[in-house]
Amino acid sequence: MSRNSNNPIYLPNGKAGEYAKWACNFYIGCSNNCDYCYCKRGVLSKTLGKPYTELKKAFKDEQDAFDRFKANVTKYLPELQKAGLFFTFTTDPMLKENRDLHWKAALYAVSQGINVKFLTKRADFIEHLDLERQSDEVKKRIAWGFTLTGFDNREPNASTNAERIAAMKRLHNMGFKTFASIEPVIIPLMSMDCIMQTRDFCDLYKIGLMSGHRDYSRKEIEDFVVRASDAIDMVGGKVYWKESVREFIGHDIECSAGVGSDYDLFNDEW
Ligand code: SF4
Repeated sequence: MSRNSNNPIYLPNGKAGEYAKWACNFYIGCSNNCDYCYCKRGVLSKTLGKPYTELKKAFKDEQDAFDRFKANVTKYLPELQKAGLFFTFTTDPMLKENRDLHWKAALYAVSQGINVKFLTKRADFIEHLDLERQSDEVKKRIAWGFTLTGFDNREPNASTNAERIAAMKRLHNMGFKTFASIEPVIIPLMSMDCIMQTRDFCDLYKIGLMSGHRDYSRKEIEDFVVRASDAIDMVGGKVYWKESVREFIGHDIECSAGVGSDYDLFNDEW
């Protein structure tokens, strides 16, 4: 099932497949306007990389997108119950313009016994979605991920990194699982700072390098891997070192906090 089909739910491949087995894309384009945005690169950049979000043309309207989502859930239910569902690769799912449909779909997925992960650079959705008062079932099955780079100036319209960190702490205190996407690592020192600020309330880190970036030295990344692994391990956290890191340093990473790409955030017994 390809990403460009009429199905909102699909099996990502390549680097996206390393991140999530099943994903859902309703929208393309994103107003956070990160200067390193992967949607702005490549042959599809003119459509995927728009500086505003809009429903994919495959859907007549939001109701049609939701109806197709429900049909996909029914069709792939056992696989989705096993692997969970990720929102989203082609926009930020918590933009004011698109978060309501994402949330409606997530609640439907949860009602079908599917675990859901959101990855966002927003921090201004907690009250709007009334997250504090959600049921235990919703809190148990939804994980909130925040991308943290430490560089607000490269993500001009997103919530600041400090606001995202504060939101992560609040959500963790409410009983939700949390994860951080430390990607791209722009400067390892800044990424390390993001880890130190979040490690007491972050259940999982996913760490990856800037694709095509050649300014790091191998030693710099090796030192970062050791320091970050130790810092995360010290508080009982988990880390998935992405292929881009392992490739860059040229070997696998052995650390007691380390997990594979298939680590189940919703099941602590790893
Ligand atoms: S939040 Fe993600 S999709 Fe949006 S501009 Fe930044 S990198 Fe692109």
